[in-house]
Amino acid sequence: MEIKKATLKFNYNKMVKLNPKNVYLIILHHSASENTSVEMIHKVHLNNGWAGIGYHYYIREDGTVYEGRPTAYVGSHCPANNSKSIGICLEGDFRKRKPTDKQIKSMNELIVELRKKFTGIARVLNHKDLYATLCPVVNLKGMVDNTNERGDFLC
Ligand SMILES: [Zn+2]
Repeated sequence: MEIKKATLKFNYNKMVKLNPKNVYLIILHHSASENTSVEMIHKVHLNNGWAGIGYHYYIREDGTVYEGRPTAYVGSHCPANNSKSIGICLEGDFRKRKPTDKQIKSMNELIVELRKKFTGIARVLNHKDLYATLCPVVNLKGMVDNTNERGDFLC
């Protein structure tokens, strides 16, 4: 699986290093928008006063995976859980449509790679499991290979 890098400028002075030993969660999101590039989300999050895009990875409708915030840094996608998680966002408004098969395939490939890098990852959760939000609307964690309804890995 290829991970594309966009040219994103971060405010590194606002970012905190992510301790890989603390990472035990993957948190899944939808963008709640269509036709939105990783650069566009980066810009919106900069305008929020954040260091830059809050997600570590962004998966376009066609399944292309983009790097967002480098995984060396704590993300900004789920208050109280950022320092222990990797955030993945799938492009789309899942109130209106389902994720594409290509997005789900890429999401699963990415999770396999992340579990090699962050060996403490033990659960995959939907954003709404941890925060008062509808995000990601559909049960993305239920589409993860080897994951049960609670979001625990079965393997
Ligand atoms: Zn979310």
